[in-house]
Amino acid sequence: MQIRVLGCSGGIGAGRSTTSFLLDRDVLIDAGTGVGALDTSALLVLDHVFLTHSHLDHVAALPFLLDTFGAGRRAPLQVHAQEATVAALKAHVFNDKIWPDFTRIPSPETPLLALRTLNPGEEVTLAGRSIRAIPVNHAVPAVGYLIRGPGGSLAFSGDTTVTDEFWRVLNDCADLKHLIVETSYTDAEAELARIARHMCPRMLVGELQKLRRRAQIHITHLMPGREDTIMREIAGHIPHDTPRRLMPGEIFEL
Ligand SMILES: [Zn+2]
Ligand SMILES: [Zn+2]
Repeated sequence: MQIRVLGCSGGIGAGRSTTSFLLDRDVLIDAGTGVGALDTSALLVLDHVFLTHSHLDHVAALPFLLDTFGAGRRAPLQVHAQEATVAALKAHVFNDKIWPDFTRIPSPETPLLALRTLNPGEEVTLAGRSIRAIPVNHAVPAVGYLIRGPGGSLAFSGDTTVTDEFWRVLNDCADLKHLIVETSYTDAEAELARIARHMCPRMLVGELQKLRRRAQIHITHLMPGREDTIMREIAGHIPHDTPRRLMPGEIFEL
């Protein structure tokens, strides 16, 4: 199993794009602007998208992806998300105002988009890869994912602030190899992080104390322009085994 980082910034600009990971050739975890790194032939073989939540930086490429598919596809793109996220996509994106309702195009019987409910705590297995949704604590209903391949597991927090269930699930994961965890804001922006339900370096330290497994830790979703400050603050709080910054184009083999 291979996981490739397509986008891992909290925003856009100068080489930055928003959250998306490619699992092997056929599965996306989130569909932020990072999806634009894939060429057309890579877009056409995507079969599944697992969304962490409904925020635009995690779903922005989904409408364009469906346009790329055109009428040449036989099977719909399966988008997996919890009920609240599916409802938000139906009401606010695929509503025939912001974008066409692709669950009825080209016909309701053979649509290009199928929205599937995946409740927090549930798991989907696709050809030996298992993807489990874990509830986290964000401004809208959100999950992280625990992705298990033959060579170990990778956990992704999605967008979250201080939370407990995510760390409990990770502590039960015996083959955890990698943890991708968000830190969006600087310590000076702690109040903003609290209100927006994200994390700052000081919050990250408290959260990592809940993790009783050794895993390589990668920081994601840094807001544009604050990256160096955030990573410097993390290094100040965690001088040994300092988490590293996740970069676009990186590949994890599991
Ligand atoms: Zn968010
Ligand atoms: Zn986000």
